[in-house]
Amino acid sequence: MHPIVIVGSGLAGYTLLKEIRKRDTETPVTLVTADGGVFYSKPNLSNALATGRTAAALASASSEKMAADQNATVLTHTRVTAIDTQGQRIRTETGEIEYSQLVLALGADPFPHGLSGSGAAGVLAVNDLADYAAFRSAIDGKKRITVLGGGLIGCEFANDLVHAGFAVDVVHLGAWLLERLLPVEAGQRLADSLAVLGVNWHFGRTGKSVERTADGYRIELDNGETIAADAVLSAIGLRPRTQLAQAAGIPVGRGIQTNGLLETGAANVYAMGDCAEVEGLNLPYVQPLMVQARALAATLTGAPTPVVYPPMPVMVKTPAHPVAVLPPKIGAVGDWKVECSDTGICALHVDEAGRLQGFALTGSETARRNTLAKEVVA
Ligand code: FAD
Repeated sequence: MHPIVIVGSGLAGYTLLKEIRKRDTETPVTLVTADGGVFYSKPNLSNALATGRTAAALASASSEKMAADQNATVLTHTRVTAIDTQGQRIRTETGEIEYSQLVLALGADPFPHGLSGSGAAGVLAVNDLADYAAFRSAIDGKKRITVLGGGLIGCEFANDLVHAGFAVDVVHLGAWLLERLLPVEAGQRLADSLAVLGVNWHFGRTGKSVERTADGYRIELDNGETIAADAVLSAIGLRPRTQLAQAAGIPVGRGIQTNGLLETGAANVYAMGDCAEVEGLNLPYVQPLMVQARALAATLTGAPTPVVYPPMPVMVKTPAHPVAVLPPKIGAVGDWKVECSDTGICALHVDEAGRLQGFALTGSETARRNTLAKEVVA
């Protein structure tokens, strides 16, 4: 009998493996991954500097331990290069593996930063444990860091870096932080709280070029302004890894498209986590992939189970001024009703009938997130 094959050892791949084993201890499972297969929690990457945690300290289990604990085969440093959906086999750099069912948990790649100049190749991004190790060594003994992008990950790194004692500049194209998730008042309050700690914001700007200088980098912005930095971190967003699926003729949109059972357009091929677009939605967060893993484990072990998401507020890990957000559904018609106090902001997105569609809470107001999540219309 051919194994269930999972491609990817991020939170999606490993959570699925664990959920399968809760239901079925015997069916052969092979997990194939391009990286070292170390189990770690990716959200820790953007709040580990201030507490001095190394990449090794963030690793919770080796691939060998995961394989032994979960009674699975884990093939590390093995990149999948092609999928033969007819023959039900994958091709890797070291050979072919046949599958009974295949799960793509491939994650997402950082967007290319697009900056020109002699320093472009030195711009860093942190999207896995190895990147984090490289980033830590690049900023060791350095002082000035420029972050490109004021989204969730950019804000978290800005907070972590400033807490760790760095001088931080953030270049953000939007007029305020997290502008696609937060109303202006909430984005500004977060920016003000981080500015008090010393973060220097450049709103409505984008990086144009980055040149190497005698002591680091010079970033030129689109308005001609320049910033001197010892290191540059790009946090301008991620895009789902769809190439492998697309090359195999599996339909992709923003992500690898699936139905509610996480089935792709090819028989016995599923997708989940950051690479997947489930019924039109790509949700690159931990809670959705946990829900997907539980449902898919049931499906793969004989009980077809669609994904049903509960309300899932996202926490932005900015201890200077935390944020909890549950965005309204795309296309939801309504308005933000914003109340501000000295300690936080409560912004409720409501429709004409006054029904709650989503919210953005900052500071002390984040304590209300679970109560409010229960009130959001289905
Ligand atoms: P990944 O972790 O990217 O795993 C993909 C895996 O696929 C890797 O093992 C890779 O090696 C493998 N792979 C890819 N291509 C191939 C191939 N061809 N062959 C073999 N293997 C392959 N979410 C939250 O909900 N809360 C947070 O606070 C939060 N903070 C975050 C902070 C940072 C810095 C980042 C980057 C993300 C954060 N997220 C957060 C998002 C969350 O971490 C991700 O949604 C989640 O970790 C994605 O897991 P994944 O397994 O889908 O992808």
